[in-house]
Amino acid sequence: MKLDFSALPLRPDALSQAPTRFCDPGYKNTLASLMDLILIETGPRGARENWQAAQLRNLLAHASRRSPFWRQRFGAPSDATKTPLAFLPVLTRADVAQQAMREGSLLPATATSPVQKHATSGSSGTPVEFFICEMNSLYNNLRSFAQYFIDGLDISYNRVRFKTGLVENKAGFTVRHDKGWNNLQGFAKTGTSKFITYTRPDIASLCKELKSAPVGYLVSTPQLVEWLLTQVEPSFLKDIGTQRITLISGSLDAQTRARLADVNIPVSTTYSTEEIGKIAHECAKRPGHFHVTTSNVIVEVDMSAPVEVDGVPLGRVLVTHLHSYATPFIRYDVGDLARLSSRCPCGHDGSVLTNIYGRSKQLLKHADGRISPFYVWGRMLIDIVKFDEYRIRQTDLETIVVEIVAPESLPPEKREAVRRLVAANAGADFNVRVEQVPRIDWGRDVKRLAFRNELLN
Ligand SMILES: [Zn+2]
Repeated sequence: MKLDFSALPLRPDALSQAPTRFCDPGYKNTLASLMDLILIETGPRGARENWQAAQLRNLLAHASRRSPFWRQRFGAPSDATKTPLAFLPVLTRADVAQQAMREGSLLPATATSPVQKHATSGSSGTPVEFFICEMNSLYNNLRSFAQYFIDGLDISYNRVRFKTGLVENKAGFTVRHDKGWNNLQGFAKTGTSKFITYTRPDIASLCKELKSAPVGYLVSTPQLVEWLLTQVEPSFLKDIGTQRITLISGSLDAQTRARLADVNIPVSTTYSTEEIGKIAHECAKRPGHFHVTTSNVIVEVDMSAPVEVDGVPLGRVLVTHLHSYATPFIRYDVGDLARLSSRCPCGHDGSVLTNIYGRSKQLLKHADGRISPFYVWGRMLIDIVKFDEYRIRQTDLETIVVEIVAPESLPPEKREAVRRLVAANAGADFNVRVEQVPRIDWGRDVKRLAFRNELLN
């Protein structure tokens, strides 16, 4: 094993000028924290598993000590820490809401370590409120950065991050520039950071903005990438310097991925939730395989009642968030389905998720209990109608509603063509209704998912 920093774009003035010092304390802390995380993500399995087991015991003892809700679920601290994880009860969203409402944060807020109230965007129904502590935010930020080292990426490229939702839902976009996008700014040569917040942006102005500086790493929802590729060719993204696309919440269809692969733009997906943060990162060598974020979570997949999707039996994803001291998430049912393996074909010796399907995925629920994937993407709709935005919802066991916001009134034959496209993909079990609406009420859905199954949330 060789630790070698020759590929780190160190600035000439990076190292300390003080006597007997090498690195100034701020940068040293960042480097040490990065080492911590990379050690736990990539180190030998035995050490990592021992660390996880100790962290789990700490969390269980804390929850039992501080919370009647948790004591009632698994007893006194000494009992809680002896019970194997798989024998503890599954935690639902309703349980979390109840615990957080009744007991508040289990970690007292202090001046140096504040606790914040958060809520899920709740794409349907009531959002779940929960508490997070400062460590959780710091960890999420640093863990995202650590992934660039784990994947061997050059941190001197710029980063452009897209975010949905402008104030008052006005069409257009705003741009915020930051000096750097990572924690080693000033120490290593790091690229610039740009945040683009958008709602139905005008494509010509957006392209002009994107062309103004090399993009580097593009971080976005899959919906935006998909929409961009209905407006421009993948070669445009390459020409403006896109090195890699990181998707947050959801994935791209195989065809869109292939179009990006044709121009040498790799795509990688982060699997995370608002409650827990990072759960897994897509393998850089084996697309579709997700390395579980060992430093943050223990993931189980409950196969006791498998659901078949595309002929593959999948189980419920249960996540234990090892640092959830304010609102514990222990065996939390995140609402997704997947398969779990003990290692990745790339050689990574740690848990791996594949076939992740769930709330952010396109699945239909049938009256007989079956679940089936649903493959209608914006690219297919744009061939039929010119739209500003759209959303497809399964609202009950027999109904799919397509909402379209379009600049011009949709003639009946176009609505019928959209209806036929959706019906052909959904199958005979569903009635499809196409509605032209002045705007889509996204509510708290910050991700603006183009497909929403109101029965599976
Ligand atoms: Zn792998």
